[in-house]
Amino acid sequence: MAKTIIVSNRLPLQLKIENKSVTATASVGGLATGMKSVHRDSNGLWIGWTGLVEEDVPSDLADDVFEAAIAEQCIPVSLTAKDIEGFYYGFSNRTIWPLFHYFMEFTEFEKQSWQSYKEVNEKYAEVVLDNLEDDDTVWVHDYQLMLLPQLIKRERPDVSIGFFLHIPFPSYEVFRTLPYREEILKGLLGADLIGFHTYDYERHFLSSVSRILRLDVSFNSITFRDRLVTVNSYPMGIDYEKFENAAIEHNKKNTQDKSELQRRLDSHLDAGDTKMILSIDRLDYTKGIANRIRAYEYFLEKYPEFKEKVRLVMLAVPSRSNVPQYQLLKKEVDELVGRINGKFSTVSWTPIWYFYRSMPFPNLIDLYTSCDVALLTPIRDGMNLVAKEYIATRTDKKGVLILSEMTGAAQEMNEALLINPNNFEQIADTLKQAIEMPESEQVKRNNILQKRLKRYNVEKWARDFMTGLEETKEKSDHVKALKLNPTRQEEMLNAYSESDHRILFLDYDGTLRGFVNNPDDASPDEALLELIDQLQQQQNTEVVIISGRDRNTLGTWWKKIPITLIAEHGVWKREKGKNWEVTENVKKDWMPNIRPILETYVDRTPGTFIEEKNYSLAWHYRNADPELGEMRANELSTTLKELTSNHELGVLDGNKVLEIKNSAINKGKAVTKEIFKEDYTFIFSIGDDWTDEFMFEELPDDAYTVKVGIQQTAAKYYVDDTESVRKLLQSFVDAG
Ligand code: UDP
Repeated sequence: MAKTIIVSNRLPLQLKIENKSVTATASVGGLATGMKSVHRDSNGLWIGWTGLVEEDVPSDLADDVFEAAIAEQCIPVSLTAKDIEGFYYGFSNRTIWPLFHYFMEFTEFEKQSWQSYKEVNEKYAEVVLDNLEDDDTVWVHDYQLMLLPQLIKRERPDVSIGFFLHIPFPSYEVFRTLPYREEILKGLLGADLIGFHTYDYERHFLSSVSRILRLDVSFNSITFRDRLVTVNSYPMGIDYEKFENAAIEHNKKNTQDKSELQRRLDSHLDAGDTKMILSIDRLDYTKGIANRIRAYEYFLEKYPEFKEKVRLVMLAVPSRSNVPQYQLLKKEVDELVGRINGKFSTVSWTPIWYFYRSMPFPNLIDLYTSCDVALLTPIRDGMNLVAKEYIATRTDKKGVLILSEMTGAAQEMNEALLINPNNFEQIADTLKQAIEMPESEQVKRNNILQKRLKRYNVEKWARDFMTGLEETKEKSDHVKALKLNPTRQEEMLNAYSESDHRILFLDYDGTLRGFVNNPDDASPDEALLELIDQLQQQQNTEVVIISGRDRNTLGTWWKKIPITLIAEHGVWKREKGKNWEVTENVKKDWMPNIRPILETYVDRTPGTFIEEKNYSLAWHYRNADPELGEMRANELSTTLKELTSNHELGVLDGNKVLEIKNSAINKGKAVTKEIFKEDYTFIFSIGDDWTDEFMFEELPDDAYTVKVGIQQTAAKYYVDDTESVRKLLQSFVDAG
């Protein structure tokens, strides 16, 4: 039975070695809950690191570790202490983590840790490939494993792969600073579906792909080699019921059943109208903890009437404490808490209660349910689950969430009080607003928030992603053209060999020759001249190069080779051995009116230029910034279509070029005229862009039509690139 393999840095397990025996306990984090239906309930496998380095596992217990993991449907990836130092503490947490959270000043670019990152991704790939069977699906998680999708795809192109990034994807301007940016993007593009928490992260990723790799991005699809990669946003939810039920049970407890922490909280809550403000986060510089304390200090100064009336309960969970920035942050927070408590405390009141530890789940529920306000102020956070958990535990619908707009969660939690974590004035005022918010308003806001969180919980998130992955697969299966695989090619070659009268229509740019920055530099190389010459020497074979290029260029390039040339999409023709002649009677009087419009676009869009042909004008934007180029092309195309609609003019959207020409002229009409002249028994046409679609549509059903690249097309077959085109033409030559 086909299964899903989940891959993440860590397995959802706690492994312990005590008294020469190994025990494994399943951890119950949000991700494990979300994955339950794909992992536990459907015979899935989870691949990851156990948390124990090779050096910590006595060799006689290595098998036991493996067995203990297997019993939980997990397969361990074995890593050394050096791997963890380079891959995890190094590249993942000193390069990717700070960079993707916009902390460029903390970002280290160490070649060695990058090396380790690559090696460890290979180790994960090896384990995945060992366990992969036909029809399995793979879902890779997070920033530690960004090279993994491509490593798997390279070996198993048939396997459907999903990737989800749990942290932000930064803007192109930040991402481009990474020395290994191409490798990371290509690594990710091994996946068929790439998921992010928010549309902004998705947008940043697409922008990086189009600018750095210069790949074609259409809405949320990327054409990468011979595949379509889909990108989408899936905001991760929480295990809502778990938090809601825990809060319901918690609220039923009588005094003797309550935890020590809850009793302490109660005694303070009972003591008067003290409001508790809660914050919970890992001690991480992205979480804005120091800012939060300073903003709280500012609040107490600006609104002194709240002294002795509020308390900040701050839980900071130790994290990555062997990375220097985390040690510095710990020191800074300790000092700030000390200073502020020293400054404001009275005999009966301490403004901040600070816990530096992790707390067991029941204590988290104590905190969530007891605090009137949650103050979460990350400078940057991929999602922030604490915000969602706080709302889920507010079963009486009271409580106010103040949330940084720099978190992914803020995108879905508009009813919270959203703040800019750098604006102390706003935080102070919002704290006052929260403390004084009427209960009816609290209920109204939380009602909406709870409904949404309950519906879009972590299980739904995982289900939606898996459905998305399934759909991606169907989408790739349904690219209309069929790949020209060896069997189909052989069938085509047989037809070619058997035919006694053949005609081949060959587009030039993007088909016979790859694109270059300056179109004038794209003259045919020796190998191409030789190939086309051999082709035209075949018995009973008509070779026609059909292009949007002007006649002078084409004529010069193919001067010595006796083939038919069709220029400007069919305006001009140079029949084999003859001179150029106009085949269509076309007007040019519109050109002086349209040219100034194109010129304004050239002025406003660096890198673009106008090409004037005999009967058409073309605006080229290949060298422009890809996003700006696409945007301006859309704008210009709309403007031109309006202007030209009454003038028998058409606007052709080519490959990074817009061409304005008489609408009665296209490659479809041109090829039709050719094939009716004689009785051909083998008709072949090949091209890469929109202007070639006219040929594919007009040619008879038994013609062999081939698209270069895998966009939607009317052609029957597709090949990947110009290299494949040349190989195919060579096989015609060889077939004779
Ligand atoms: N959490 C925990 N123990 C604690 C404090 C917090 O397990 O002592 C959990 C909390 O319930 C939440 C997670 O840690 O699910 C933090 O997730 P979040 O998205 O807020 O931040 P991250 O740590 O992933 O950056």
